Amino acid sequence: MTYLLNNPADFAVDALRGYAAAHPGHVMLAHGGVVRSTDTPVNQPALVIGGGSGHYPAFAGWIGPGMAHGAPCGNIFSSPSASQVYSVARSAENGGGVLLGFGNYAGDVLHFGQAAEKLRAEGVDVRIVRVSDDIASGPAEAHRDRRGIAGDLIVFKIAGAAIAAGADLDEAERVAWKANDATRSFGVAFEGCTLPGADDALFHVPDGEMAIGLGIHGEPGIREVPMGTAAEVADLLLDGVLEEEPERSGQYSGRVAVVLNGLGTVKYEELFVVYARVAERLSEKGLTVVAPEVGEHVTSLNMAGLSLSILFLDDELEEYWLAPADAPAFRRSSAGLPAGPPRTGVHTPGEDPIPEAAAESRNSAARIVQALEMLRDTAAEHEEHFGRLDAVAGDGDHGQGMAYGTRGAAAAGSEAAAKGAGARTVLLHAGDAWAEEAGGTSGALWGAGLTAAGGVFDDARSVGAAVVVDALAAGINAVVRLGGAQPGDKTMVDAALPFRDSLVAEFAATADLAGSVKKAAAAAREAAAATADITSRRGRSRILGEKSLGTPDPGAHSFSVLMDALGDFLASSPEASSPETL
Ligand code: ADP
Ligand code: MG
Repeated sequence: MTYLLNNPADFAVDALRGYAAAHPGHVMLAHGGVVRSTDTPVNQPALVIGGGSGHYPAFAGWIGPGMAHGAPCGNIFSSPSASQVYSVARSAENGGGVLLGFGNYAGDVLHFGQAAEKLRAEGVDVRIVRVSDDIASGPAEAHRDRRGIAGDLIVFKIAGAAIAAGADLDEAERVAWKANDATRSFGVAFEGCTLPGADDALFHVPDGEMAIGLGIHGEPGIREVPMGTAAEVADLLLDGVLEEEPERSGQYSGRVAVVLNGLGTVKYEELFVVYARVAERLSEKGLTVVAPEVGEHVTSLNMAGLSLSILFLDDELEEYWLAPADAPAFRRSSAGLPAGPPRTGVHTPGEDPIPEAAAESRNSAARIVQALEMLRDTAAEHEEHFGRLDAVAGDGDHGQGMAYGTRGAAAAGSEAAAKGAGARTVLLHAGDAWAEEAGGTSGALWGAGLTAAGGVFDDARSVGAAVVVDALAAGINAVVRLGGAQPGDKTMVDAALPFRDSLVAEFAATADLAGSVKKAAAAAREAAAATADITSRRGRSRILGEKSLGTPDPGAHSFSVLMDALGDFLASSPEASSPETL
């Protein structure tokens, strides 16, 4: 539905007023629409494009140098009247005649046609291009009788570019039709749109289905099929459009312009998910994409749907497709900002060379990998419980974060070890992977902790028990430094600091690593439990601080669980009795 409106009947006019006020450098109001607010060269044909409102950026958003000269704007989804088309055309015309462009719909055909008659009677040369890109709306043999959808952008962009390049009216008309004849579109909808002021959508698509062959005026699709994944939708649209790919010979060599268009409520990220597949398939088919456009171009209010348009290019169409344009809703840079040569590579984690390591350090690295795998299994076992604790005042993802983080750390550590990494490098890789895989606050902190701990190790030496203690303390110090939490803020720091202090003291007294870790973990467990009595002052849960009373901090609890498991692991290891090596 539309949240913000005054009187529903005035919605389109109010929106147009706001649009003109927002883009004074480009447009000004004329009766029934908008025209460029700057003069155009004498004898340059005027490209006047339009249709109903409710399709922004179509059509008013495409006015400016390199694109259109004026746009009559009808009411929502209804053609502008002949008199509106006439007024806008008159305002835009500057001696070069008028090219009227609109999607092929009966109302538009009549009103634009009538305006053309009137202009011609007054001696203005007028030509008409009706966009008819929608393959769902008619057979290929009668392409020019189909209706127009997002192909509007392609046809008007190209006609505008031809005009800016000096085309006269004959030439502009020829190029516009040529673009239309080489453009094919196909769309799907998941839900209809709701007119401003109405409480229900113009149509609904049954649950679990999608409507293929949508229109852009709230017309439902031509048939319903089961809902697909993004990749399946991409395939459906692409296969449909490519059924009418011309033969690759002569002027057409498999170069295409592509527009993936959101109809209103499909988000940009969703469009990109679909486009990833479209791009992959196009390349598999040997097609070369030229300046693709992914975004909202021809919308239908808040319709949930998308469409794919392809323009089969020849040299002339490609030149116009790439030509500069400066409209409020469509810009192409004119000079083409200087770009360097294509980048040859990007940094990929895990692909940095592994520093050479001594055999002793590689032995320790193998143990570290086992420890990471043990942490991974422990986190997986407690995943649900960690999540439940976090759901009380946080967002419930702590179990997942710890499970993903430890899994990533174990995998990255093991991969590095397999490539010959020593103790230090294994833990540095594990830290990066933990932060990357876990996401979230705790993931960043654990990742930093592992990285700091790894920094204490050495690829040239084995890891002695005292070094493990130093590394654990360094990891905890990093968490405190990076997170900035104070004791009592109700975070993992409340468990980590007592752990560190107890570990250092106990190890100094006994030199027993496993026993010291176990004892420190018990202190951490107790401290974590005590956080139930305080309210959160850090992280997400601070917003719902009061709600957290009675529940221990999830990060403090998980810390104590993992450290307890580490104590068991160390106790069970064959070298546990030796203070020398891990
Ligand atoms: P997110 O809060 O991003 O959803 P998680 O749910 O995985 O991340 O982790 C939440 C835990 O992170 C909290 O229970 C708390 O222990 C810890 N945490 C949050 N902020 C800090 C901080 N500034 N310092 C230390 N620990 C923090
Ligand atoms: Mg969380």
